[in-house]
Amino acid sequence: MHSDNHIHTHYCPHGSDYNMENYVKSAISKGLKRMTFTEHAPLVIKDTTPEKNSAMTVEDIDLYRQEGRMLKERYQEQIEINLGFEVDYIEGMEAETQRLLEKYPDMIPYSILSVHFIKLPDNEYFCIDYDKDYFLTKLNEVGFETIAAIYEKTLHLALSNPYGEYTPKTIGHITLINKFEQAHLLENQIDWIRLLKKIKQEGYSMDYNFAGLDKPYYKKTYPQAELVKKALEMTIPLSYGSDAHHPDDVGRYFERSVENG
Ligand SMILES: [Zn+2]
Ligand SMILES: [Zn+2]
Repeated sequence: MHSDNHIHTHYCPHGSDYNMENYVKSAISKGLKRMTFTEHAPLVIKDTTPEKNSAMTVEDIDLYRQEGRMLKERYQEQIEINLGFEVDYIEGMEAETQRLLEKYPDMIPYSILSVHFIKLPDNEYFCIDYDKDYFLTKLNEVGFETIAAIYEKTLHLALSNPYGEYTPKTIGHITLINKFEQAHLLENQIDWIRLLKKIKQEGYSMDYNFAGLDKPYYKKTYPQAELVKKALEMTIPLSYGSDAHHPDDVGRYFERSVENG
């Protein structure tokens, strides 16, 4: 819990403009002993979101790495700083994604694999967490049941070592599909226990992501407390993450962890 393993930076276009050092100072001030930057790796598909702002650019990777390494050295006495990616699992683009990851083997152990895009029956890649109205429009078009079923299938694919030894073995915010649940009040039929079993069986860790508490239509952690408890019973390793896109968010709400009783 003294470690925040899911932190974004100014290299992602939907974050804030503070440089990475501000996040480091914030982590130190909150007493964290370790932090990991996990910027959104460049997308291997065309960004289908209206603002096309989902991820960093290929050109920025080197700058991101340089800035991270400089800070790692500068602050080594105060905090351990690691550098990874939040990688999008994109169904059907496994080879392209692996080619990208193969260039950065040092970052794989600190990276998170997340599902933000699902491949719909018409082959469109749809971003499930872009915003409420965007999500509700698609929900009315194809139905929540269909969206949730595809999301569940996609998670299982992400949990099947899609890039071999280059697969990031932490699965991101598994209940992201529920981000707007209080706006539609529909329940999904996802078999979460089967999913946890898959996480366990394939040797992944689970992103225990506190950003959800600040989402107005969700207000829980990803995943919610009951599922985190289940994961603990199953001895699935948890990876605490604030998913900060602003320095103030580093380590947010970690004190509300179910491990604190
Ligand atoms: Zn982001
Ligand atoms: Zn994410």
